[in-house]
Parts: sequence; structure tokens; C-alpha cells
Amino acid sequence: MKTRAAVVVEGGKDLEIREVELDDPRPDEIRVKMVASGICHTDAIFRDQWHPIELPAVLGHEGSGIVEEVGSAVTDLAPGDRVVLGPAFCGQCAQCFAGHPMYCEKFGERNFAGVRGDGSRAFSDENGPVGSHFFGQSSFAEHSNVVASGAIKVDEEVPLELLGPLGCGIMTGAGSVLNVLDVKAGDSLAVFGTGAVGMAGVLAAKAAGVSTIIVVDIVESRLEFARELGATHTVNSKEQDPVEAIMEITGTGVQHALDTTGVPAVFNQMTNSLRILGHGVLVGASKVGTQASIDVGTRLASGIRVSLVIEGDAVPQEFIPRLIALHKTGVFPFEKLTRTYPLEEINRAFADSAEGTTLKPIVVY
Ligand code: NAD
Ligand code: ZN
Repeated sequence: MKTRAAVVVEGGKDLEIREVELDDPRPDEIRVKMVASGICHTDAIFRDQWHPIELPAVLGHEGSGIVEEVGSAVTDLAPGDRVVLGPAFCGQCAQCFAGHPMYCEKFGERNFAGVRGDGSRAFSDENGPVGSHFFGQSSFAEHSNVVASGAIKVDEEVPLELLGPLGCGIMTGAGSVLNVLDVKAGDSLAVFGTGAVGMAGVLAAKAAGVSTIIVVDIVESRLEFARELGATHTVNSKEQDPVEAIMEITGTGVQHALDTTGVPAVFNQMTNSLRILGHGVLVGASKVGTQASIDVGTRLASGIRVSLVIEGDAVPQEFIPRLIALHKTGVFPFEKLTRTYPLEEINRAFADSAEGTTLKPIVVY
């Protein structure tokens, strides 16, 4: 069938809206009519080829939509089902069996290769194949063939067009705080970087009863917004040393910290702001080859832990319904982070996110 997609033709350049041909879903796939797709900073990283992907390709990995057709091996989904799309994983490796599918041994090839396992691409145009299956879904298309095991069925009551970001950015921030840091009511947390990922961390911490939530960023408007969402303290690290500020606020350092910036200097600040036996999580993505340092001389005796985390170490099939349940009770208002755009304005949506005026852009088809 023919469909429309936003295609990356050249690295670092705007996406082009093109008509493309979509093949038939494979036995383990579903064809999804996208309702919407969030835009995540990781899409920009692949658009700009920080992590190379063969071009042309259709990106997008925070899709939500309606199942139109199911492959012959798909038994738990049917046409008409409303789905949120999470990353692909093999379900067969040690990590998948151990309940950590976001660390699937085949995560890279299933999510970032731009091709199916058999090397084929679902999209094509007059010039040849167009990369698909980004995060198992390539959701910057009105229709896409999606790995069925990554889809999570949701009920009728939820606003489907807002839910795509639960599949990556929101899951990453909230999962890092709830699953990996495993915060408790009354704890302290510092969040470095208040994009959608960091703000989702703030919302999750507030929902869990974390009593000291310190947010660090270099954009004043984001800090203001973080206070509205539940940050108890904010630090503009352009104006103030964040480690000193965190020590002043807490006396001893924070129990938990989350670095969403991917900036090596911030990683160092995060590890220096942890109190004894504190735990810090890095989720911010950097260019391949980026090195970051810890003052091991000073910090050895502190017993701190540092985790590098993908997708909040969530099991999306379990975690996304949990976030939806929290959202329904009003304690996880992630819709406050979102702003919708038509497909034609996808490049403006990317630009607004980069400039910091929109936290979580969502393209609505
Ligand atoms: P974003 O660009 O919207 O947010 C980043 C924030 O960091 C911005 O508010 C920016 O002002 C702030 N920042 C930049 N430099 C800073 C500095 N030196 N000090 C303090 N703050 C600084 O991005 P996002 O969508 O929230 O994503 C955050 C990061 O997480 C990206 O790198 C993205 O690729 C990555 N990511 C990782 C995963 C994962 O599974 N690990 C999943 C989703 C996104
Ligand atoms: Zn993402």
C-alpha cells in the first residue's frame, strides 16, 4: 500500500515528507495506522548520524495507533486494537528471560539497524528501499509494519494521541526513578537536564513521595516549569556550581540522581553530588567515543553506585499500563509536557524541542 512518511534523506538535514510504498506485514508483525508519534531527542541523534543508520530511513519510536492487520503468527492482537509501541526485543536471550528486555542482546540490531532481521526494509520509493523498523516501528509514517511483541494494547478511555511518548522518553525518565533508583517516599533526588526525560523523572519522583527534588538545567524557563511540576529546588548551573548548591540544600548530598544531559561534565557533577551510598543513573545519550570521568580518588570510600540505563530498565508490557494507571489517578500528569503538531510541521517540532520551547512534541496524523 501507499502511505506518507517523514524520511531522513541526508544526515543532519530536515526530514522530507514523501509518499512511500509499504510492504505486507510479516508473520510476527502488525500493520498500524499511526494516530500519533512523539519526537525524542534520540530521533535527532540518528537524524544527525551521531549514531549512523543507513539512509534514506524513516525514524520515529514513540508511536501510538490502531492495528489494521495482523501477521499470521500474531495471536494476542486484532484489527481495531489500540496500541502504544515500545522498543523491539528478541524475547529469547538471557536478558529478556531475566526480565530486562531493554538490555536484549539483539537490542541494537532490532532497533537501530533500519532493517528487519532478514535484512529487508518495509518501505520503498522509486529510488529503492527506505529504512524501516527503527525501534521496531518507524512511527514517522501514517502506516507502518511494527514488531507485534513491542506493542501494548490499551483501553478505550485513554487519550491515544498522547500515549506514544510512554514508549520511550517518559518510560525512560519515570522508569529510571521508579525501577532503577527505586526511590522511596521521603528520599532526595537530583535531576540534571529537564527535557521530557528529566521532567518525567520529576513527575515520577513526586508521585512516589520523594520529598527533596532538586532540578539542574541551564534554561531558566525549564527550571520554572520544573518548579510547577514538583521540583522543590532548582539550580541554574550557568550561574551556580550545582554540586555546591546540592550540598548546601541537602547537607550531605542526594541519595539519588539522574543525568539526562549526556554531557560529560554533568556526569561528573552528578557523581560528586551523591551522598554516601548514593545511586546515580545516566540516561543522556552522547556521541560514540565520548568519555566521562569520576573522581575515583575522592569517591572510592563513598560506596556510590552508577548505572547506565536504557528505557528505564522497564518491561514495557508491565510498566506502560502502570504509568497509564498513575495518569488516570492524576498523579502523573505527563500531558503537561506535550504539544501536538501536524506531520507537515515535523521539522518545526524538532526545532522547538532543540530550542527548549517544547518539551515533548507529538506529531498527530
Ligand atoms: P532534551 O534535549 O529535551 O533535554 C535535555 C536537557 O538538558 C535540556 O533541558 C537542556 O537544557 C539540558 N542541558 C543541556 N546541557 C546541560 C548542562 N550542561 N547542564 C544542565 N542541563 C543541561 O532531551 P530529552 O528528550 O529529555 O532526552 C534527554 C536525553 O536522553 C537525550 O540525550 C536522549 O537521547 C536520551 N534518551 C535516552 C534514553 C535511554 O534509554 N537511555 C531514552 C530516551 C532518551
Ligand atoms: Zn527515545
